[in-house]
Amino acid sequence: MQIKCNVLDRQFRMYQEEYEQAALRVLRSGWYVLGNEVKQFEEEFAKFTGRKYCVGLNSGLDALILSVRALGIGSGDEVIVQANTYIATVLGITENNAVPVFVEPDEYFNMDADKIEQAITDKTKAIMVTHLYGQASEMTKIVDIAKKHHLEIIEDCAQSHGACFAGKMTGTFGISGCFSFYPTKNLGAFGDAGAIVTDDAAFADKIYMMRNYGSKVKYYNEIEGVNSRLDEMQAALLRVKLSHLQELNNERTMLAQRYDKGITNPAVYLPRIRDEAEHIYHQYVIKCNARDSLQKSLEQSGIQTQIHYPIPPHLAKCYHFLGHKKGDYPITETYANEVLSLPIYTGMTLEEQDYVIEQINTCRIE
Ligand SMILES: *Cc1c(COP(=O)(O)O)cnc(C)c1O
Repeated sequence: MQIKCNVLDRQFRMYQEEYEQAALRVLRSGWYVLGNEVKQFEEEFAKFTGRKYCVGLNSGLDALILSVRALGIGSGDEVIVQANTYIATVLGITENNAVPVFVEPDEYFNMDADKIEQAITDKTKAIMVTHLYGQASEMTKIVDIAKKHHLEIIEDCAQSHGACFAGKMTGTFGISGCFSFYPTKNLGAFGDAGAIVTDDAAFADKIYMMRNYGSKVKYYNEIEGVNSRLDEMQAALLRVKLSHLQELNNERTMLAQRYDKGITNPAVYLPRIRDEAEHIYHQYVIKCNARDSLQKSLEQSGIQTQIHYPIPPHLAKCYHFLGHKKGDYPITETYANEVLSLPIYTGMTLEEQDYVIEQINTCRIE
């Protein structure tokens, strides 16, 4: 059997008619960028997260970059960020010439809240939290720390659409919740798309202007903006997907629970969930000391897996100038050597999953 890590056409086929209707509606409308579909989607997504405002953007990275910029964070400022996140989180900081200050993750792969305070200096302006793999971070503690030190919280929710902490949706704890709708995300579009959600009217207004050349009224450019507009096609298709997001997340949770029960290989550490945290399993990430050997063995059985992420940002070539070296963040570096993301996607059949489980349980790990 051949199992891919991600299969995107099944989620399309599941609601094919609805997607096709939405696409035709846009094609026939004669209006393709920033229109009624975007407005509707923004309203619906704000409501879904429980925030007052949503501003649709071009990508998750733009959501992060513009959030940092709109807060006036730049040269000479520091932003705290977890060390084992995707490069985009860090780019949101460095694109604004601010300095990322890395904090090690906890056993749930999220920012270790107990290590934040020692990273705070008088230059720290914000904490950038990634709800990695779909599990909400320890937000009660992080919010308390941010309050105590007068820091903003920016949440990278690119992997956590619909995941809650203590019953409260990720993306609602800080001034800005940053979302990506890249096709593989739980709420994925059919191209690039992103958004921020916030309760702060002035902040929303600023992002709203920034995404369209710094203007509210065409050709009246109030601030230096960018082009990060969301198009009507993606917004219309996202509206369809959003209306099914709960089912889609439930399906992933069901699959994750089957992995939890089914995998019995003692060399494999299963993902854990923190009390009060919810996990929407954007990724199902296991740990294994002999990860490379396990991955190779699965590959030989036709099973594709991925590593999120093989090189931590502090060791990435592009961040050489930050001056970090191997050994600076040992937990992060160990994770980079030991994590493995198993196939999990909308429309994965139980037969496919049983095959993955069987191969994990019977494979030889050197
Ligand atoms: C996907 C992702 C992003 C970036 O989103 P894009 O839409 O690809 O720009 C940022 N952070 C995390 C954690 C992601 O997984």
